[in-house]
Amino acid sequence: MIQLYIPLNFLGVLYREIKQSLTDLDKMFALMEREREVADKPGAQALPPGAADWSVRFEHVSFHYDPARPILRDVSFEIPAGRTVAVVGPSGAGKSTLARLLYRFYDVQQGRIAIAGHDLRDVTQASVRQAIGIVPQDTVLFNDTVEYNIAYGRPGASREEVEEAARAARIHDFIASTPRGYQTMVGERGLKLSGGEKQRVAIARTLLKDPPILIFDEATSALDSANERAIQAELKSAAQNKTTLVIAHRLSTVVDAHEILVMEAGRIVERGTHQELLAQGGRYADMWALQQSAEAETFTEVMGM
Ligand code: ADP
Ligand code: MG
Repeated sequence: MIQLYIPLNFLGVLYREIKQSLTDLDKMFALMEREREVADKPGAQALPPGAADWSVRFEHVSFHYDPARPILRDVSFEIPAGRTVAVVGPSGAGKSTLARLLYRFYDVQQGRIAIAGHDLRDVTQASVRQAIGIVPQDTVLFNDTVEYNIAYGRPGASREEVEEAARAARIHDFIASTPRGYQTMVGERGLKLSGGEKQRVAIARTLLKDPPILIFDEATSALDSANERAIQAELKSAAQNKTTLVIAHRLSTVVDAHEILVMEAGRIVERGTHQELLAQGGRYADMWALQQSAEAETFTEVMGM
């Protein structure tokens, strides 16, 4: 019996290993596929790292993943250096696509996107990604340690710096409570993190990276409201004097934005400051009223009133 059991058990392990490798291979090809969407043009220069003006411009941008289905239609806006532009709108409107295009996962089919006046297609991808910190809507972590996943934002960061970022992102206590702490392996082969924990790791990574341009794509959507409020304050201070694109699910986080864009079906349908949009009495004002009353209701429930 024992002789039979061991080889079978071994085969089980082997099977899992092979299956895992295939999954990794799949992922790798998926990544390469994505990388192939954009390529540096011959002789592309790096964005000047010390640029004084980290403005972002979208000029008449149209984009589709599939030619049969336009996603963005003639989108134009500017984020002056050091300012924040917020994007709100229903799911499927194309908000995350804006973030992906700015990070240059894809190139636009019409119009142009420029950072510091440079068309993204004229500069190296590496330099674009170095200039930007992104907290995506769905964070995928590397199959590596927590420390690696945070320090990836700034290779060579000290343990103290990693911990400081983790504290600001409210993930330090959780990491410290695991048996191996910062050396805990995460991802498919290690500790499985919840959506909110992954989001906080991504936030820590971005805080540590401290780049001139920030993208927060519903960066706190998976957090409970106490953590969300605390981290919103951190993100707000991180965004001070940074060129920031905030995609928000909760309107209370966008009231201070330099400009708010309301998107629907790939178009900007309203734009202005919070006060201007409220005064317009359009979609934004409706969304605002709806969220205010929803929050009041939750409050009443929580208070047992
Ligand atoms: P939002 O962030 O506003 O919810 P997205 O920008 O994620 O919207 O998506 C806009 C539209 O593009 C959606 O209809 C979505 O299904 C589609 N889409 C997103 N990513 C892809 C992709 N990789 N391939 C094809 N369609 C996509
Ligand atoms: Mg989205």
